[in-house]
Amino acid sequence: MIKESLLKAENANAIYHVDAGDYFIGVVKAGSTFRIVDLEGNQAADTLFYNANDPAERYSATDTIREQGNVYLTAGSEIRSNENNVMLEIVADTCGRHDTLGGACATESNTVRYDLEKRCMHACRDSWMLAIAENPEFGLSKRDISHNINFFMNVPVTEAGGLTFEDGISAPGKYVEMVAKMDIIVLISNCPQLNNPCNGYNPTPVDMLVWDK
Ligand SMILES: [Zn+2]
Repeated sequence: MIKESLLKAENANAIYHVDAGDYFIGVVKAGSTFRIVDLEGNQAADTLFYNANDPAERYSATDTIREQGNVYLTAGSEIRSNENNVMLEIVADTCGRHDTLGGACATESNTVRYDLEKRCMHACRDSWMLAIAENPEFGLSKRDISHNINFFMNVPVTEAGGLTFEDGISAPGKYVEMVAKMDIIVLISNCPQLNNPCNGYNPTPVDMLVWDK
């Protein structure tokens, strides 16, 4: 569902630029709003969320999908935790649909899906692992890397129930915006994938804007 935000970028309290292949990790306080902007279009922002006060509570795709009765995320979606609490609510979305079924790229999946020689290519799982290794103050470890949301990524479910990675439905400047319902650790890998059309074979940067409560 397309829904535009009333917030103005010039009033944001912080703007973070995340290059393709880089990560963002930080805390968004309860009541604050943040927006991820697909600056050049057709990008995928592979995202994990944790309760900042208890990182064992984390984003759960299964709880989110079950409670809303829909596999796609968009404006109105409540993003739920493994304890079935609402972590965030998507309040604006100019892309229209976001994936949470396709998972993140890893060197292992690149090898299985594409070619043995793709194993050395940079992947989202590596960016997450680097983020938690370089930022131990968040208290996250390898076991916390779980299923994720792929903002802007187009993974339609076929009539037969199959999954396909398709060319993006996003475009330059499209964004998704959320309100945090608890203090949230946001961990984004801005996907460096070069082997499927999820980012148009051309990984590009995203911006993250935060409006404090
Ligand atoms: Zn990726």
